[in-house]
Amino acid sequence: MNENTNNTKIRIPFNRPALTGNEMRYVSEAVARGHISGDGIFTKKCHAFLEQVIGAKKALLTTSCTHALEMAAILLDIQSGDEVISPSFTFVSTINAFALRGAQPIFADIRADTLNIDENRIEELITPRTKAIVVVHYAGVGAEMDPIMRIADAHGIPVIEDNSHGLFGAYKGRALGTFGCMATQSFHETKNIHCGEGGALLINDARFIQRAEIIREKGTNRSRFFRGEIDKYTWVDIGSSYLPSDMLAAFLYAQLESHDIIQRKRQCIWDRYFQHLQSLAREGHFSLPTVPAHCQQPYHMFYLLMPSAKHQQELIAHLKIHGIYSVFHYLPLHLSGMGQRFGGKAGDCPVTEDISYRLLRLPFYNDLTEADQEDIMRSIADWVDGTSSAS
Ligand SMILES: *Cc1c(COP(=O)(O)O)cnc(C)c1O
Repeated sequence: MNENTNNTKIRIPFNRPALTGNEMRYVSEAVARGHISGDGIFTKKCHAFLEQVIGAKKALLTTSCTHALEMAAILLDIQSGDEVISPSFTFVSTINAFALRGAQPIFADIRADTLNIDENRIEELITPRTKAIVVVHYAGVGAEMDPIMRIADAHGIPVIEDNSHGLFGAYKGRALGTFGCMATQSFHETKNIHCGEGGALLINDARFIQRAEIIREKGTNRSRFFRGEIDKYTWVDIGSSYLPSDMLAAFLYAQLESHDIIQRKRQCIWDRYFQHLQSLAREGHFSLPTVPAHCQQPYHMFYLLMPSAKHQQELIAHLKIHGIYSVFHYLPLHLSGMGQRFGGKAGDCPVTEDISYRLLRLPFYNDLTEADQEDIMRSIADWVDGTSSAS
């Protein structure tokens, strides 16, 4: 590999968190109000926004999506020996939150087109010990929720949507995050809408609401106390501290308010990549993301699927030499050190094992300029010319 690779200056990062509207003003306002612990006025505004715009029965901000997933695992009473089905092609928290409660991960392979859990591989993995199915809407493109919900309902198994990528996405006209009994959002700085670190638990099955409030408040009924429903609060269940500071909620609310602007910017970036890279894709140098007509995507990321792992490594290195930071994504969880301790082995999820090593994500952030984007695409075209003339 070229020795420049490691010390070339990055001109175009992979991600750069942007401020869009009133972030700093609202943070100051939260501080000025003198309520910067959790569940202040900005947290309530975020809850109302998420409930209205997504249509969840209840939204609860959390310190991260990881913590929202942990809450979901506690709410489903996941115990040692239970099995939880999830894709192997996902972020570790999707399944770790359940492993933390003692669950055995059962990894399902993905579809080769949308890279979402393959709905046709789920039923064969169900056993009497299956306690949950966790679905990820990769890149915000909806998993096949109709068949998935049919299978889950037939077996009486709850579905959790890890909707980290899918905020504002829809499947057959219905918002992602409203299919499962619960869904989780991430507001990490790499996501469309962010507050640095943050998340939310969306509850669609009202039976979970009261206990969720308790788990999020250290196992106490403090939420009911604050609403004046009881005159003192006490320890009633297990729980932890899953609520973020109202300063973060203030930052987040400004982003949520600006979601139209943010989403429009991201759509422009996505469309420009898609249109301009079309001809190279047609020539077979890579393929572009598949978005089925019944899926409305929220423009979370843009990736190329390279013909081989070697092409992926070469293009990442080529872009890096030109100061452009592109990255691969999830490596198969079932083949990780931890995944292997759970019994994962090569061949378990062939599509995942193939695609993980070929996928390359291009820089994608709200303030990515047209000039920088053209620079990226020119660099990709140069690499294609270089490899074609070399072979
Ligand atoms: C980002 C992400 C998470 C974790 O989100 P945090 O808010 O950082 O905990 C979980 N799952 C998926 C699919 C993600 O992309």
